[in-house]
Amino acid sequence: MSSPNERLDSIYQQVVARNPGEEEFHQAVREVIESLDPVLRRYPEFAEHKMIERICEPERQIIFRVPWEDDRGEIHINRGFRVQFNSALGPFKGGLRFHPSVYLGIIKFLGFEQVFKNALTGLPIGGGKGGSDFDPKGRSDNEVMRFCQSFMTEMYRHIGEYMDVPAGDIGVGGREVGYLFGQYKRLTGRYESGVLTGKDPAWGGALVRRESTGYGAVYFVDEMLKARNDSMEGKICVVSGSGNVAIYTIEKIHQLGGKVVACSDSAGFVYDEEGLDLDLIKQIKEVERRRIKAYADTRKQAKYTPKGDIWAVPCQVAMPSATQNELDEEHARTLVANGCLAVGEGANMPTTPAGIRVFLEAGVAFGPGKATNAGGVATSALEMQQNASRDSWSFEYTEERLASIMRGVHRTCWETAKDFDQPGNYVVGANIAGFIRVAEAMLALGLV
Ligand code: GLU
Repeated sequence: MSSPNERLDSIYQQVVARNPGEEEFHQAVREVIESLDPVLRRYPEFAEHKMIERICEPERQIIFRVPWEDDRGEIHINRGFRVQFNSALGPFKGGLRFHPSVYLGIIKFLGFEQVFKNALTGLPIGGGKGGSDFDPKGRSDNEVMRFCQSFMTEMYRHIGEYMDVPAGDIGVGGREVGYLFGQYKRLTGRYESGVLTGKDPAWGGALVRRESTGYGAVYFVDEMLKARNDSMEGKICVVSGSGNVAIYTIEKIHQLGGKVVACSDSAGFVYDEEGLDLDLIKQIKEVERRRIKAYADTRKQAKYTPKGDIWAVPCQVAMPSATQNELDEEHARTLVANGCLAVGEGANMPTTPAGIRVFLEAGVAFGPGKATNAGGVATSALEMQQNASRDSWSFEYTEERLASIMRGVHRTCWETAKDFDQPGNYVVGANIAGFIRVAEAMLALGLV
């Protein structure tokens, strides 16, 4: 009989061999597997039933052609994906990403993370993810609409409120969800609100869904600080990105008395010593859909650094909220040297494994994405609840539900880490707690 450690290593090698070239997927699997040695020791039945091997294999993977025509009449062919990873706890649930970097390995890493994230919320949702290598940048509303319609023309066969419920991710927001829902309704003839989340509140969306990933991430960081008898009040913060997650992370930090001095996009970052003017950022990003550089053109005391390193800006709280692997070992060392106390991942897997190690060794409170950014999908589940009961809740009530879910996610990670002899290690806490919930449900459902 091999030891749990040898067993885990061989499972990881199998995943690499069976999924060649999918580096981000390998990375996400490795991070979870590395936490599971004590779990297999305590629950030998999980090894016996090959729970890890089963969880690493998606239930179903769909890859499809998405042809569409641009405004000049030129035809484009993109590739669409929906990976239905695990439905032990509920219908597959997870966003769609439209970005030129998308390929199967990205969707699988996101889908895999989603399974554990969704389990941590305690709500009845399985995990999945989808998207396309379509680049929405610079495309007109009409082009985006035609692309979304073509994408849905294939995807509609595979989704449903009891089957698989997509939402947004990078490049997919309220506008795209609207076009996708419109096409779903047209193809099926059904007003099936619960088939997509992140809808506009004017026609079935949940209030707070737009704010929820960012708000939830700040609640999580606030809980980590409280566990150390500290708080967000007065903290200097850096938030990378300037999309939906970053914008509402900044908003909640400001509401809790912190000050965000820098944010970014893929071209560079802005630094504003007085604290970022969020109304201006919303105008530039949400209304005008322009680059963040425009901020420094308007706010004279702000400084724009093209291609610069946002993690070199001194801060006490860092919230990487742009994309995967944006914060590496060197960035982590700089943050630690500058006195960073807490890191909360708003994006999915933004910190490299070596970066995470630096934070853990330095005793920084580190909230991994699958726990910290779970507020988005949790509020999607609240949207599904409202749709199922044909109800709509107030902003205040929904936000209170979100806050209480995030306190619950924090508590679960904290207690699990302590229970497995790694107090304060939220990475281990999130991985183990998420894994146990999914594995127990799968065991109960038999060999399926
Ligand atoms: N894309 C988001 C995430 O990474 C939200 C998914 C959802 O709301 O279904 O969790």
